[in-house]
Amino acid sequence: MTETFDNWIDGAFTAPADGARMDTINPYTGEVWAQVADDPDAVDVAVSAARRAFTDGPWATMAARDRAGLMRALGAAITREAERLALAETRDNGKAIRETRGQVASLEPNLDYFAGMADKSIGQQIPNPLPNYLVYTERVPVGVVGAIIPWNSPLALLTWKLAPLLAAGCTVVIKPSDITPTTALMLAELSAEVGFPPGVINVVTGGAGVGAAVSSHPGIDKLTFTGGGATAKHVLAAAAKNLTPTVMELGGKSPQIIFADANVKAATNGLLAGIFAAAGQTCVAGSRAYVHESLYDEVVAGISDIANNLKLGDPSDPATEMGPISSDAHRDRIMAMIADGVAEGATVAAGGVIDPELGGRFVRPTVLTGVDNSCSIVREEVFGPVLALVPFSDEDEVVKLANDSQYGLAAGVWTADVGRAHRMVRRLDVGTVWINSYRMVSHTVPFGGFKQSGFGKDNGLESIDEFLQTKVVWIDIESGN
Ligand code: NAD
Repeated sequence: MTETFDNWIDGAFTAPADGARMDTINPYTGEVWAQVADDPDAVDVAVSAARRAFTDGPWATMAARDRAGLMRALGAAITREAERLALAETRDNGKAIRETRGQVASLEPNLDYFAGMADKSIGQQIPNPLPNYLVYTERVPVGVVGAIIPWNSPLALLTWKLAPLLAAGCTVVIKPSDITPTTALMLAELSAEVGFPPGVINVVTGGAGVGAAVSSHPGIDKLTFTGGGATAKHVLAAAAKNLTPTVMELGGKSPQIIFADANVKAATNGLLAGIFAAAGQTCVAGSRAYVHESLYDEVVAGISDIANNLKLGDPSDPATEMGPISSDAHRDRIMAMIADGVAEGATVAAGGVIDPELGGRFVRPTVLTGVDNSCSIVREEVFGPVLALVPFSDEDEVVKLANDSQYGLAAGVWTADVGRAHRMVRRLDVGTVWINSYRMVSHTVPFGGFKQSGFGKDNGLESIDEFLQTKVVWIDIESGN
């Protein structure tokens, strides 16, 4: 049965004014499982609610400790509802339940961590040359935040933004992806159940029109966006009209580098975690591997064997290792990129096809060889289960190859040489380097890209700074007025 979801605005479900709705498709079955609002005009209503909550509502004057209490209560409520949320997430984007369960389990610790920061926005008293002036700073919330979220890890990536912005005292209008709109609504409803005042958390679902209405709204004080570079350019152009500051968490083409002295088994498993987890639909997908020529054949054989034996199937089955691609359009894009790779000379060592037995929505885990940095499959983000492997002969060469990219999100380095590991950290132009590991993230550790992978950070202590601004106070302590 198809479920219907309205927007969440000012503490209540609110039907779209013109009844405009869009379908939410379960990518495993291909069936419409829910319908959600798709009404750009609702953004203005949500921004007004968020503004009222920021300036006039109880949130505006609430003690930071009480704000923190609400965040902790929301975390606990999410954990109580974890299975329902994980299943909804899997139904929306097809990600294996073993992964969505893990992601939902990360939300309460994240909200707890930032709840602890709510009362630690500490200003400074600043010495100055004029003895009759006392100067100090306050750290104040930026105001109403617009948060635009992608589909691949909807609740986790939303909470990466929500936890620090709530701790800072901001209010928010959330625009979840049109592919995964339902779990943000469920989270917002839980926020009301635990006592969040109306208007603090608002969710407006829909497609690009709703996203454009958020990015261009003059009532939004800060935009935080996670998604692709092409969309980011639209968001930035719209934001520029209002001079709205932005955080941009964008795509990648992250290299995995395997040196001759690496533990081959661990490195091969690292390739697996980097590219076939989440069907490669992750911003940090380790989608190009540079393998020392002495290990190249062994690594290609090892990862191809893994690719051929991964268990694909119903993503709600805990035994499933890889679910379907999130939408038919995205599947077609991935297959077109594989075809381009082959046309440019790639050899398919594994996969390269739609699984013939699983109903047309599964791209077989794909391993490509015979390519180099001039090939589109080595340069462009696929956002799917497609790994391209390139041999190299020495460190200087592989540093050049790895940095030869518009992206700079992350990199993996596999070596037993500690000196080389540290040299590589210095030489790689990326926001995160994993040594002898891959795809580790935590709400306590800053995350964000260099170059066209974005700017600003989610997670870690510094992410709260994205939602605070410094107010300076000069007091003449001699004038007596
Ligand atoms: P996307 O750019 O297509 O969409 C992101 C969001 O923007 C969605 O909510 C979408 O509805 C909205 N949107 C679409 N058109 C818009 C417009 N004109 N104005 C405003 N908003 C608009 O990205 P996606 O396909 O949802 O996600 C995949 C991309 O996200 C990949 O490039 C991936 O690398 C990136 N990503 C980055 C990170 C990170 O933290 N760096 C994390 C996850 C995903």
